[in-house]
Amino acid sequence: MDHIENDDQFQGLRVNKGISEQPTVNPYLNNFKRFKRKEYSVSEYVEGILKGNITILGQAVTLIESAKYEHQAIAQEVIEKCLPYTGKSVRVGITGVPGAGKSTSIDSFGMHILKGNETSKVAVLAIDPSSELTKGSILGDKTRMERLSIEKRAFIRPSPSAGSLGGVARKTRETIILCEAAGFDKIIVETVGVGQSETAVHSMVDFFLLIQLAGTGDELQGIKRGIMEMADGIIINKADGNNIEKARLAQSHFKNALHLFPLPDSGWAPKVLTYSGYYELGIDEVWNMINEYIDFVKKNGYFDYRRNSQSRFWMYETINERLKNNFYNDPVVQKELKICEEQVLNSQMSSFAAANKVLDIYFKGHK
Ligand code: GDP
Repeated sequence: MDHIENDDQFQGLRVNKGISEQPTVNPYLNNFKRFKRKEYSVSEYVEGILKGNITILGQAVTLIESAKYEHQAIAQEVIEKCLPYTGKSVRVGITGVPGAGKSTSIDSFGMHILKGNETSKVAVLAIDPSSELTKGSILGDKTRMERLSIEKRAFIRPSPSAGSLGGVARKTRETIILCEAAGFDKIIVETVGVGQSETAVHSMVDFFLLIQLAGTGDELQGIKRGIMEMADGIIINKADGNNIEKARLAQSHFKNALHLFPLPDSGWAPKVLTYSGYYELGIDEVWNMINEYIDFVKKNGYFDYRRNSQSRFWMYETINERLKNNFYNDPVVQKELKICEEQVLNSQMSSFAAANKVLDIYFKGHK
């Protein structure tokens, strides 16, 4: 039957026959098998990584980042087998406040390295301390390193997101090992200038670079003294256009400030350079400085000394992290902590007595 509104009384209106609505899910898709990621054996992972296969490298890093025990077990075996092929890269840490120009600079530095040497490969890893506090990310949310990210000889990995800073940093350090085994000879580890993340990055790189901006003359006030002391080089970004003079002024302020610090253990007096990551001015000088430093510390033995102390540091860090996790994940401890916390807050027990009580219970259970 024709539609009722096509009756003469509704002149001027014509209702067409409808068609039944198509299902929104394409039924033919059922014919395709669901894509399943291939699971590799330890030796397949190792072989792939040593051949420089980026897909396999990426999947191995995912295992490192995984909280699952079985993933961790495979990851540890892969790392162990890759270890003999590591250690040959130059590892550079880069830090600076948001907006200092880290991603712009790393994009330029990375392209500079790739252009300068046909066999060089650049890995960019990140440690984002915000993930610990907010579960969000300061570093990862924007389109970053546009040129480098499409280069075949580049591997860019955002910060592992879950876990404590110590856990995130350990994962990054393990990722460095795999990247080196995959033939990446320049490793850049980036972090944002917040909290303790600089110390973590400093403990896994050969050269620590601080990116600064020229301010209004009192820029030194905003910088934590500890970060200045850790830096092997300070670079003042955005030295372009009207900003060149200001950048030079900032350069001399930083130079003067550095004179007040004692010479670092490396014997290298940190340099202060101005450059522009965006306009690629002074990029050569920045990389020459890094190469000069590496030559210097290789000759005086500090390079190996620093890497050895980092390895020792990470051994103890890993022990500390596992002990802490084991303690806090213990259900008996968790129950007892709640009770003791209550008693401490009600002044029924001192903080120390409470801590000792819970620790005693934990240690007894593990004898
Ligand atoms: P990040 O937060 O430290 O990674 O900083 P970005 O690399 O995202 O840069 C922050 C802003 O500064 C962006 O708008 C960039 O375009 C700009 N920028 C970065 N480097 C330079 C530079 O050398 N000169 C100028 N004029 N602007 C820059």
